[in-house]
Amino acid sequence: MRQGCFDLSRLKICPLKSSSKGNATLITNENTKILVDCGISGKTLCESLEKIGIRAAELDAILITHEHTDHTKGVGIASRKYNLPIYLNALTWNFAKSQIGRIEEKNLNIFETGDEFYINDIKVKSFHTPHDAAESVGFVFEDSSGRAAVATDMGFVTDEVLSVICGCDAVLIEANYDLNMLEIGSYPYELKQRIKGNRGHLCNDDSGALAKILAESGVKEIILGHLSEENNFPLLALKTVESFFTKENAPRLAVVGKDGEVIKGTV
Ligand SMILES: [Zn+2]
Ligand SMILES: [Zn+2]
Repeated sequence: MRQGCFDLSRLKICPLKSSSKGNATLITNENTKILVDCGISGKTLCESLEKIGIRAAELDAILITHEHTDHTKGVGIASRKYNLPIYLNALTWNFAKSQIGRIEEKNLNIFETGDEFYINDIKVKSFHTPHDAAESVGFVFEDSSGRAAVATDMGFVTDEVLSVICGCDAVLIEANYDLNMLEIGSYPYELKQRIKGNRGHLCNDDSGALAKILAESGVKEIILGHLSEENNFPLLALKTVESFFTKENAPRLAVVGKDGEVIKGTV
């Protein structure tokens, strides 16, 4: 296992932390470094970036998918300490601002979901994800070398999601829980229902079905992330998703553990 960046084109997806307890994913090319979510402390962000030779002050922007603390915990600190612009939609800002705290006006960028905008030479497009947050989104990134997407935290896969992430070079999707582990686990009934519901998360089998559709659309690299620490194991998620493929039709598959460690698939 090692930290890993996924780079079929010059555009790379580097998950720094990925679990129900904290998420931060770096999207980079030669010129631009974008952080998607910062659900980790400022200290952990710096340590995670250091492992791949990047300083937090080098980041160009932080994009925020939704207001849950596993995505926003360190956003305010990182923006204030390193003078980083943040990008989020208005509803998410309304719900997240008390937790994020003061952001300099010049660093606060409110987008409308569906808008396209540029961070240096990377074009970013947001799209809706069905999740129990004010207006959660995923992002697609495009530069002259390729397209990559981050699409986690969704109760089911909508046509809108498919329309934007199909055909990308690389996609980070969630494999949040193993259904059996969730059902026999210690979570209260209401929480189990929330996780399984249409505004919850994808289980390993949902993730496998999505991975199959993505691979058929031409996606070459699929990264599984945002695993529950209570209701999943990296190898279980990977093996479940691999079971949807044969050697002939499998994309490159990998699963990311909570600290960004990567296990590559063997199909
Ligand atoms: Zn989350
Ligand atoms: Zn969430």
